[in-house]
Amino acid sequence: MMELFAPTAFLLCAALFAFLLAINRFRLYNKLKEPNNNLCATENTCCGGINSLKCELPAGKLPTRMPTVLPSDEYAENVVPLSVNYHFTRKCNYKCGFCFHTAKTSFVLPLDDAKRGLELLKNAGMKKINFSGGEPFIVKKGAFVGELVKFCKQTLGVESVSIVSNGSLVSERWFEQYGEFLDILAVSCNSFDADTNEKIGRQQGQKSHLISLRSVRRLCADYKVAFKLNTVVNTHNKDENMVEEIMQLNPCRWKVFQCLLIDGENTGPDALRRAESFVITNAEFDEFLRRHNDVECLVPESNEKMQNSYLILDEYMRFLDCTKGAKEPSRSLLDVGVDNALNFSGFDEKMFFKRGGKNVWSKADMQLDW
Ligand code: SF4
Repeated sequence: MMELFAPTAFLLCAALFAFLLAINRFRLYNKLKEPNNNLCATENTCCGGINSLKCELPAGKLPTRMPTVLPSDEYAENVVPLSVNYHFTRKCNYKCGFCFHTAKTSFVLPLDDAKRGLELLKNAGMKKINFSGGEPFIVKKGAFVGELVKFCKQTLGVESVSIVSNGSLVSERWFEQYGEFLDILAVSCNSFDADTNEKIGRQQGQKSHLISLRSVRRLCADYKVAFKLNTVVNTHNKDENMVEEIMQLNPCRWKVFQCLLIDGENTGPDALRRAESFVITNAEFDEFLRRHNDVECLVPESNEKMQNSYLILDEYMRFLDCTKGAKEPSRSLLDVGVDNALNFSGFDEKMFFKRGGKNVWSKADMQLDW
């Protein structure tokens, strides 16, 4: 009798366990299908849930995986993440008053996880990756972004690999080690006047931003990396005439943005910056553009063009949806896959093409005289 009882009891227990497991998975599946749930991957860690911007994992600790169970819908099937901006850190050594990606967390993904996410994006059609921040060169003295740049170019064969930096932490040693893998280095420069830079918050201690900028320009020429400039037009620089200095620096492109308010970043009760006093009118932006009309490489980007036409990934590899004026994160693509995360990116693909998002973006195709 006992010989029969033991195997029967074991089989019954196994069946009961399987039944409970199936119910649990079914409940989790339904929960994940709700677009606005606040579910974290596990009870104790923040993994990229919709409302988890304020919770922070200790640096170096992995968000626990979320099962990849969500079906992609029509949107994700149609949208290809051709060009992606990965803001892998929010930390920065500058304090620009209008900053729209502020240091709300100090989290940075472990290098292997970041590489895994980049590989997923490449498999989904990514051809251009831009690393941004915060300040990308602040993490491991530039070695982190260097390894990602090398991985994307050498291992994944991504057509265009670029970085946006404030230029203050870039060294020649970095160029020696990683320069060959980088297509474009974009440096932000909002003024050629030291006092204006100080008013904007664009400097660290006594170190001159303009000296750093010119040093990076020389390094880009020496190591054959395309040099680009970005400027945010705001109340402090709107009347400046930058033509001469821009011509001297001779960037391959000069992107000119209009200062933008983002709820939770540079405006609103949760924000770390107050950018209201930096905002200019459309007419003032147009006037700045008119003054610099002779600069051929100038590419203007109004707020309307900019707001939803970038695919932005945050430090957890969550797409950020800016359509409602704040940055609403998707779940991490490391947990739910690229297609599902894309559903919550708010990306306006038509505007991406309209603003010239697809351009000559590999240094091999640029025919630069450096
Ligand atoms: S340099 Fe860029 S990331 Fe740093 S504070 Fe200024 S705008 Fe923000």
